[in-house]
Amino acid sequence: MGTSSSHILIVGGGTYGINTALELRARGHAVTLLDPGPIPHPDAASTDISKVIRMDYGKDELYLQMMVEALALWRAWNDELGKEVFHETGVLYLTLDGMQPGDFEYESYQLLHKHGHPVERLDSAEIGKRYPAWNAELYPDGYYNPQGGWAASGRVVALLAKRAEQAGVTILGGVAFAELLEAGGRVTGLRAADGQEYHGDQVVFCAGSWTPVLLPHLADVMWPTAQAVFHFLAEDLPLYQPPQFPVWTADVGKTGWYGFPAQGDGTLKLANHGVGWQQDPRLPRQVPAEAEPRFRAFLAESLPGLAGARKTFERLCFYCDTFDGDFWIDKDPERPGLLVSAGGSGHAFKFTPLLGHITADVLEGTANPYAARFAWRKRGALAAEEARAVERK
Ligand SMILES: Cc1cc2nc3c(=O)[nH]c(=O)nc-3n(C[C@H](O)[C@H](O)[C@H](O)COP(=O)(O)OP(=O)(O)OC[C@H]3O[C@@H](n4cnc5c(N)ncnc54)[C@H](O)[C@@H]3O)c2cc1C
Repeated sequence: MGTSSSHILIVGGGTYGINTALELRARGHAVTLLDPGPIPHPDAASTDISKVIRMDYGKDELYLQMMVEALALWRAWNDELGKEVFHETGVLYLTLDGMQPGDFEYESYQLLHKHGHPVERLDSAEIGKRYPAWNAELYPDGYYNPQGGWAASGRVVALLAKRAEQAGVTILGGVAFAELLEAGGRVTGLRAADGQEYHGDQVVFCAGSWTPVLLPHLADVMWPTAQAVFHFLAEDLPLYQPPQFPVWTADVGKTGWYGFPAQGDGTLKLANHGVGWQQDPRLPRQVPAEAEPRFRAFLAESLPGLAGARKTFERLCFYCDTFDGDFWIDKDPERPGLLVSAGGSGHAFKFTPLLGHITADVLEGTANPYAARFAWRKRGALAAEEARAVERK
């Protein structure tokens, strides 16, 4: 598609959709975005009180380079958006055993060190002294990266959606995609669930975990995975706030555990980057009964001061998992007029400042340093996605 302006239909108003809309509008295209919303949609993965923003990606140079670029944009957004949406607390990486070659933490530390990033190796004594909420005896090794922290994801999507409307993006809330319209061998638009038809030069599909259920021809390469998220009330607030309690991961490559500092009202979010549960994101959501005891067992062992903390919220949130854990941003080779931008695989929010650019470049056929990794691909060997605990449910 040349650079002349055209009319783009975007399905889905999460971080992929809103940022793609903003970028395409800035490049002069007419853009209509539809979502069953409101936006941010309460069930969207992007809608949450916090998401981890980290540059630590094991041996993966590409994601590290992307995060070096994205971090600078996150810092700039705090000024631009006039609100602190990115909280740079740094990120603490704890390990249950000494860091070993091949481990997510070891490889991340080595790569960051090689690139001159100021990471600090820690032993139990240092962990206990600097981060007293932790049962440091359990964690003999780890490191602290002062770069990174958390972003108020739902707030970011809300602010960017407002910006998109101000820029002239037509946002249709309450409108749900039902099926593609095709004519003359190409996708020419879509029909909504209420039967209304929308026509455009291109359809960009950014429906997150709903993508493989709305476009079943993708079901072999991506699928929705439910993950449990809990909020607990931290009473002794200073103990659970930076600098002595930054964003953290607890041997995340093996256990999946990660979490956030307590917010001003004491809300402390805890989650697990594990295998989760495969289910349809359109169905009613119920956190499985097995989840809370598992979360509490972790707290009792690692953060004993929170073992009896009051639970204030629980939720199922969905990943759009690709078979190799990499994002999926490319034109459908068999359906001209359709571009799929999804596949966040539980780790895309931190790249929010880049997702619109990558998608717009792919749509326009403009060279992009990252796009090749996210191109349309066949399911091959399961590439080890960074830091995903696979053995524990
Ligand atoms: C539990 C959990 C924790 C996570 N933690 C982190 C983290 O710490 N750091 C990080 O970087 N990433 C994290 N992620 C990943 C990140 O949240 C996602 O990769 C990202 O938000 C996906 O954005 P999206 O726009 O693709 O999808 P979503 O935000 O889910 O948006 C999809 C949109 O599609 C809309 N939609 C659904 N059906 C239709 C339809 N029929 N028609 C039109 N629109 C429709 C929905 O309403 C929704 O607004 C986490 C994800 C989860 C689930």
